[in-house]
Amino acid sequence: MSQSLTIRRPDDWHLHLRDGAMLQAVLPETARHFARAIIMPNLVPPVVTGTDAAAYRDRILAALPDGMVFEPLMTLYLTEDTDREDVAAAHASGLIKAVKLYPAGATTNSASGVRDFDKVRGVLERMAEIGLPLCVHGEVTDAEIDIFDREAVFIDRVLDPIRRDTPGLRVVMEHITTSNAVDYVKANAQDLGATITTHHLIINRNHILVGGIKPHYYCLPVAKREEHRLALRAAATSGDPRFFLGTDSAPHTDPLKESACGCAGCFTATNTMSLLAHVFEQEGALDKLEGFASRNGPGFYGLPVNQDSLTLTKGEVVRYPDKIDTGDGPVTVFDPGFEVHWHVTT
Ligand SMILES: [Zn+2]
Repeated sequence: MSQSLTIRRPDDWHLHLRDGAMLQAVLPETARHFARAIIMPNLVPPVVTGTDAAAYRDRILAALPDGMVFEPLMTLYLTEDTDREDVAAAHASGLIKAVKLYPAGATTNSASGVRDFDKVRGVLERMAEIGLPLCVHGEVTDAEIDIFDREAVFIDRVLDPIRRDTPGLRVVMEHITTSNAVDYVKANAQDLGATITTHHLIINRNHILVGGIKPHYYCLPVAKREEHRLALRAAATSGDPRFFLGTDSAPHTDPLKESACGCAGCFTATNTMSLLAHVFEQEGALDKLEGFASRNGPGFYGLPVNQDSLTLTKGEVVRYPDKIDTGDGPVTVFDPGFEVHWHVTT
């Protein structure tokens, strides 16, 4: 007997679409299943002003194939020079839905990020006034902090002080990877949400390192110990509305991943919904998938839930392409390391 599940069409609350030929190739992979996505602003140069965001949105919509419907939810890249009134105007016009904080040097294209948090205090206060969420890449970048501890240290040293200094600021802890982050969200009822990626529900650090280094499993924040993966699974499948899907699908071409200094990022746009159905079924929580993928994110952002739907049907093994061809070169699709049986129809 085939099992099937129909949910409201999902959204992706953390996505990298890049630009140019890469944008052209990866956008349909997301738009096939997702209605909307929060678009990361870490282009080179980054999307820092309302004018930049409007131009990037136009390029995304121009790259959307005929017949596909997709709404990019734009963000601005917070720098020490960000103008609070430009942010407020871009929010008031409906152009942007969040501002993104990257600690300088934390991940791909984050060199323009924030070093001195006192310099962005005025912007954060304005965002709290107007109810504009701050999306946070939650890792410290100090050389002496172990890469596996950087999220936990960020919570104590940066995030908690920012939240205490800026009452009312709505914060999304993005792509959380530790039980420390799960616990911090649960302990703070007000104005706090967290996104969880597909791949962090599936891999732990052994998958990256045991039996030879697997560059396509390397991402930032890096996958942690198994106990943390289990904490993420418990949070994602709990039904708690503060946890929602942000794939952090992040395409890099194979030569940039399979390199002596490989880029961070997993490309999951193509197969995320099949993988999530597999994970939620394993956890006995298929009834919580709609909340995680389709309802909790709009709830946090104050947006309506999508009207149309997506159906997941369990059957024969699903075959996804190993790679997506782009004008810049091939991009490897995330391989979960197991067979998936959930087919997606829209
Ligand atoms: Zn990201």
